[in-house]
Amino acid sequence: MTAPLIDPFLRPISYLRVSVTDRCDFRCVYCMSENMTFLPKKELLTLEELDRMCSTFIRLGVEKLRITGGEPLVRRDIMSYFRSMNRHLDSGTLRELTLTTNGSQLERFAEDLYATGVRRVNISLDTLDEKKFADITRWGRLPQVLRGIDAAQKAGLRVKINTVALKGFNEDELFTLLEWCHARDMDLTFIEVMPMGDIGNENRLDQYWKLSDLRARMAENYTLTELEESSGGPARYVRINETGQKIGFITPLTHNFCESCNRVRLTCTGELFMCLGQEDNADLRAALRNHPKSDAPLEDAIRTAISHKPKGHDFDYSRQAVGGQMSRHMSHTGG
Ligand code: SAM
Ligand code: SF4
Repeated sequence: MTAPLIDPFLRPISYLRVSVTDRCDFRCVYCMSENMTFLPKKELLTLEELDRMCSTFIRLGVEKLRITGGEPLVRRDIMSYFRSMNRHLDSGTLRELTLTTNGSQLERFAEDLYATGVRRVNISLDTLDEKKFADITRWGRLPQVLRGIDAAQKAGLRVKINTVALKGFNEDELFTLLEWCHARDMDLTFIEVMPMGDIGNENRLDQYWKLSDLRARMAENYTLTELEESSGGPARYVRINETGQKIGFITPLTHNFCESCNRVRLTCTGELFMCLGQEDNADLRAALRNHPKSDAPLEDAIRTAISHKPKGHDFDYSRQAVGGQMSRHMSHTGG
């Protein structure tokens, strides 16, 4: 039997998030600056290397894989990676293969994703207003994303919408978004904006809408019941009694969620980040590329990295300043 991955704080690591590209067809203002420099192709793990990397994690006890980016569905031939991961679902070693996407390519790929064993997708959407959508994503077009959501649901994928709560931007759409998700039988999770990477002229504190405020506003119209369930991740959930909807809150700033963290993040170049809010990372690509015939060095490198997983992040917006700012963009580790 292979020993499971356990970190220094006795947290079992069973969830790997994999960023398969740093590129994206959008330029969301809280995620990227307008002029981004992307990595040269040779830096990226090939799809075969990604397969070997993920299969090694699965052998070490990872049961859930979330594919992300950048925009994962713009990576060339990414469906062949999903198809090859399907064997781990078939064998029962992998419990869930899923992805986070901006939805722009779902019209093309939803059916294929379902065929490879994906059953749930997280789709990021911050507004239902076409003009505002174009502003916030810079390059995105709302109708294309809405067609993607239609296609996902038609293909049988369960959809959860992720919405970044943005002060002065989508405050006025809170109830519209809640009602829209309810009408379409989609779960909804709100995310507090995190200090990840240089975003040009935008100011983080100007963007920050506290989820405690958002929640208080919801409670003026609905009765909310706190749910105990946790995905081992940052989200806390409530049920809206009147509609039965489950609403998530990802609140790294107002509520620290690290004590139950079960996840690590692999970038498209093979760096492993043990914490979203710390710079510390391990280069797994060298262990993989330098040993094409044996996975033992890679396994050792993964175990060593996990033995350095920190207790938690240090994000802090108190005193009207951004604390714990990360130099890398969210698209580097995929959120
Ligand atoms: N492109 C895909 C998408 O947008 O869903 C996947 C990658 S994106 C980096 C993953 C998630 O991170 C999205 O839901 C996005 O809204 C969120 N995100 C990006 N930058 C963020 C930031 N600075 N703070 C909080 N969430 C952020
Ligand atoms: Fe692209 Fe997702 Fe970042 Fe928006 S949030 S720029 S869609 S990676």
